[in-house]
Amino acid sequence: MKDLQKINKEYNCFNTICNIQEKKTGKLKDLKISVKDCICIKDIESRAGSKILEGYKPVFDATVIEKVKKEGAIIIGKTSQDEFGFGSFSTNTYNIPKNPYDKTRVCGGSSGGAASATALLDNHVAIAESTGGSIACPAAFCGVYGYTPTYGLISRYGLIDYGNSLDKIGLMAKNIKDIKRVLETIKGYDEKDSTSIKDNLKKDTKVKKIAVIKESLNVNPEIRDIVLKYVKEKYGEYDEISLPITNKYGLACYYIIAMAESSTNLAKFCGMRYGASLELKGNFDEYFSKVRTKYFEKESKRRIMLGTFARMAGYRDAYYLKAAKVRTLIINEYKKAFKKYDLLISPSMPVIAPKFSEIDKLNPLDVYMFDNLTIGPNLAGLPHLSVPIGKIKNMPIGLMIIGDHLNDYKVIENGM
Ligand code: GLN
Repeated sequence: MKDLQKINKEYNCFNTICNIQEKKTGKLKDLKISVKDCICIKDIESRAGSKILEGYKPVFDATVIEKVKKEGAIIIGKTSQDEFGFGSFSTNTYNIPKNPYDKTRVCGGSSGGAASATALLDNHVAIAESTGGSIACPAAFCGVYGYTPTYGLISRYGLIDYGNSLDKIGLMAKNIKDIKRVLETIKGYDEKDSTSIKDNLKKDTKVKKIAVIKESLNVNPEIRDIVLKYVKEKYGEYDEISLPITNKYGLACYYIIAMAESSTNLAKFCGMRYGASLELKGNFDEYFSKVRTKYFEKESKRRIMLGTFARMAGYRDAYYLKAAKVRTLIINEYKKAFKKYDLLISPSMPVIAPKFSEIDKLNPLDVYMFDNLTIGPNLAGLPHLSVPIGKIKNMPIGLMIIGDHLNDYKVIENGM
């Protein structure tokens, strides 16, 4: 615990440190597990990186926590993140994690603390969450494996939601073996989550044909070269495939759906039921506005406004419903590709982890553009894995392996 405090002082990867081991026996009895702050642990402050949830201690465990506790895992703390998952650098929060390879650079987001802790600790697996890339992005920037499952495979019960139709709980580790160990424990149907699915994972992990996504090669040329060299060495032959709909409309489609859903989810944080509150003065509207103005970060306010707009009567058809239709086209585009290919490959991120001083100059749209490669598989609910494959200027880069729904084993086994 002392070591953890020391690491945390330097890198800010934890919002809360704890030491919980309910049993000394079980399949995970020797494994340390960190938990993204947005996943509820009974009696441990769970804030999703937000000031508005200061002091909130859930009275229950998320299903994933219940399951790892039963297998004897040692839960070491809540990892820092962008507030409610809104961001790609983990800077939209009160506790900003630093990159283990260079403290002047970001960890990626929104599961930045999870990735940083994974790079810094041994014998450890991070339970994290991705809505639009929050596992693949920080895993790539911090040089660790980041696995996002088929949507619904791992229960979301006890997750402080960002966007319900997009959120997936997933894992990060220094090796695939540990990811598999924890996945076996936490996957499967949960009656408490109406979107959870039966574990019908395909057992076949053989790969006959792969394709690199053509549009994804339009990145930092050094990253492109390392990715293509790795693919050639590992798979020999590969095709290139174009995903024009995903590439052109994915980002806009994702941000409309994600903001619409998140603005609804944030309605419950009003200073009455969870976390922070103020002196009760004025009517309810005045009170709620005062609490929300004081405690939400700027990015959350932006998403509440844009998301509420996209859901408003008169605009719903033009934005939210249109985006839902485009999402179906994107899913179909991937489905067609998987008729021919076992796996699709791209870089995980278009750049290496930026410096804090560089991102200060970006506007919100610039920041959203960083998600262009991770948005597609997340919108389509496809399993994907970011694999650390090399470095540029001592900063790690990641390659992303994407599989068809329920082909999680194929994705994971091919990351080794
Ligand atoms: N960067 C994306 C966003 O801000 C993805 C975040 C996530 O997956 N939680 O929405």
